[in-house]
Amino acid sequence: MLTFTYEQLPVRVVFGAGSFDKLADEVSRLGLKRAMVLSTPGQRRLADEAAKRLGVATAGIHAEAVMHVPVETARLARETARRLAADCLVAVGGGSTVGLAKAVALDTGLPIFAVPTTYSGSEMTPIYGLTDNGMKRTGRDRKVLPRVVLYDPALTVGLPAKVSGPSGMNALAHCVEALYAQDGNPITSLMAIEGIRALGRALPVVVKEPLNLEARSKALYGAWLAGSALGNAAMGIHHKLCHTLGGAFNLPHAELHTVILPHAAAYNRDAASEAMRVIAGALGVTDAAQGLYDLAKKLGAPLSLKELGMPEDGIERAAKLATENPYYNPRPVEYAGVKRLLEDAWHGRRPG
Ligand code: NAD
Repeated sequence: MLTFTYEQLPVRVVFGAGSFDKLADEVSRLGLKRAMVLSTPGQRRLADEAAKRLGVATAGIHAEAVMHVPVETARLARETARRLAADCLVAVGGGSTVGLAKAVALDTGLPIFAVPTTYSGSEMTPIYGLTDNGMKRTGRDRKVLPRVVLYDPALTVGLPAKVSGPSGMNALAHCVEALYAQDGNPITSLMAIEGIRALGRALPVVVKEPLNLEARSKALYGAWLAGSALGNAAMGIHHKLCHTLGGAFNLPHAELHTVILPHAAAYNRDAASEAMRVIAGALGVTDAAQGLYDLAKKLGAPLSLKELGMPEDGIERAAKLATENPYYNPRPVEYAGVKRLLEDAWHGRRPG
């Protein structure tokens, strides 16, 4: 018998090539007049483009976003928002830029307009993260959930293949874990399955033909679904391990997700057999863990923690850290199993 709780998150989504041009209309629709545009230093030109589209509704540009939102970076962005008397935030970029806008919104309550240019999915979640002294703290707050998301696949064609593949695998990870989440529900599962199907088909084309707008569109659609799934379900061993390893060894976010995902799926293979059957079906393979590994390989993405620069003698410490605080996962999280998982991931072995 079905029993579940599902909370629809109130985000307006505008999807399609050319949606970036609707930015000014979307801002004025909410009666807002002074937008602070955020980006990374590398995407400053895109921030300028956003300001051009906003015209008189631009309060200023703050192109200072960096990975993992250090508290000092967040403080500076909040001060700038106050100095500019901004009444809303426009985040153009990937998870790092959306993350910085969230840090400002957490403190100021300013509404966020997100224009994602990667597949991280952060724009669809009420999850924020802040890094202080190398320790990342995350939380959930409705204040940081963007009001409007403009998905324009034309903005993603410049995302290099070596970034697109891992970024897409990061999105796949949200879908995979949503399918065995403790608070999973049929609606989130529908989004997750469709997200896997879309990403699994589109990503190999995206890395081969980065300018293929049809494939870019499909991948971004999958990323939207993945972000929605992440926003609606609690995550398990995969996200926990990525969080732990990323913080302890300063490893690149999307690549880390890529390496860990097949092994997290293998870890849960028997305990979440129905989810694995569905994931394999959506990918068109017979085994979910092996299918995810083969997909990462096809994308030319990293397959081992060794390649990402994690020291082999860090495995035991990571296994200890990841098993310190108990949390829900279909298969209980225990030291020996996690250590084995990490050894396989360190060497980049195909899940057996
Ligand atoms: P990112 O935002 O750090 O972007 C990676 C690099 O690619 C940056 O230098 C950026 O300037 C560049 N870039 C982005 N889009 C581009 C494009 N279209 N063309 C060319 N270059 C482009 O990476 P990410 O993987 O999107 O985000 C990672 C961060 O997001 C992590 O800190 C992670 O914790 C966070 N995240 C948060 C959530 C959440 O729900 N809160 C979800 C997923 C990820």
